Amino acid sequence: MRKSTVLPVLPSAMQSIVSQALEVGSQVQPFSVEGRQKAPRIRDAKVVKSVCPYCAVGCGLNVYVKDGKVIDIEGNPDSPINHGTLCPKGSATFQYTVNSSRITQILYRAPYSDHWEVKPLDWAMEQIAQRVKQTRDETFVERLDDGRVVNHTLGIASLGGATLDVEENYLMKKLLCGGLGIVSIENQARI
Ligand code: SF4
Repeated sequence: MRKSTVLPVLPSAMQSIVSQALEVGSQVQPFSVEGRQKAPRIRDAKVVKSVCPYCAVGCGLNVYVKDGKVIDIEGNPDSPINHGTLCPKGSATFQYTVNSSRITQILYRAPYSDHWEVKPLDWAMEQIAQRVKQTRDETFVERLDDGRVVNHTLGIASLGGATLDVEENYLMKKLLCGGLGIVSIENQARI
């Protein structure tokens, strides 16, 4: 024969406490105005994929941009190199980028001058091109004294940064060595 499963009736005082508790639990929880307005700092920001500017490991970065300004930089979790992690230097990339001490203009100090002058980029590029040509013309050697053909100049050297990628290094080597005959081409990334 089946047993009856009637629940015991609670005393009225206890029923009142339970119903009050249920009422409170079903109400919307109170929030402060400040709490309602809080949001992640990167909400609505555009994510630009980039690469850490420091070393040859080349860790991937997520650069968060809002209203045309960089507001945060973090490791890119989709990067097969760093999986979102960054070393202390890479973690400081934001302050490297957004920094009032960062120089954003061409500065030129003339020979024997004691101060820097602001110059346009086109002027600086023209100066570099002219000085490379002049130095190469003055120092280019076709043959050594023993008659061996070398077609080189020892008057110009190139020192590359670690964040130059494979394609950039290829182009530099092709232009500087094969094109201009520069022998001294170095890059920190060889580590
Ligand atoms: S985060 Fe560190 S290890 Fe990675 S590329 Fe930048 S400096 Fe190199």
